[in-house]
Amino acid sequence: MSIKENLLQIKSQLPNHVTLVAVSKTKPVADLMEAYNAGQRIFGENYVQELVEKHQELPKDIQWHFIGHLQSRKAKLIAPFVNLIHGVDSLKLLHEINKEAQKNNRVIDCLLQIFIAEEESKFGLDEDELNGILRFITQNSEIYKNIRVIGLMGMATFTDNQNQIKKELVHLKSIFDKLKMLPKTQNLQPTTLSMGMSGDYKLAIECGSTMVRIGSSIFGVR
Ligand SMILES: *Cc1c(COP(=O)(O)O)cnc(C)c1O
Repeated sequence: MSIKENLLQIKSQLPNHVTLVAVSKTKPVADLMEAYNAGQRIFGENYVQELVEKHQELPKDIQWHFIGHLQSRKAKLIAPFVNLIHGVDSLKLLHEINKEAQKNNRVIDCLLQIFIAEEESKFGLDEDELNGILRFITQNSEIYKNIRVIGLMGMATFTDNQNQIKKELVHLKSIFDKLKMLPKTQNLQPTTLSMGMSGDYKLAIECGSTMVRIGSSIFGVR
């Protein structure tokens, strides 16, 4: 199947409240243009340099999401244009994004990444760390006024065990539900739960995802 066919097929399966991020890392701009011409406007990239180059080359009405692990010193490279940063997992990084957003006169939306998997290699916060960061930025909202935490992101363990994946996704959803109960501030406006990839997006939607990040099912294997 073509990229267009893959994309339309996936979109037909998504409920209206679920946003599709087409994960285009390592794929050539021609592939992104094929998805663009089929109507896709939100693309997710993992590598800063690649994101910067694709942003320069491709149409300006694309919304770019950074979904990789962002190093603080590279925040300035994407701050002028990025629409959403998914994988924020430290106060240090939030601080840097806020600083660079301020320089660009913007407010940058961020998702805090929660560690839900059993693997050692995955990045992310535990619930205590999450609450510590939230307390700090909401109590210092005068300083942190160029970021807006709009929700959470997580990745389940890479396994065939559906029960385990489900348990992890449900856990993330429960943390998101608690987040939504907190008093809203300028910089805390939770609406978005980014979970689900090619292998588990249907399950993730059943478990309450509002944003899925799908790469290989659209663009083919990397
Ligand atoms: C690569 C990647 C995806 C997409 O993975 P697929 O299995 O190709 O759909 C989603 N989220 C993150 C964080 C990724 O790095």
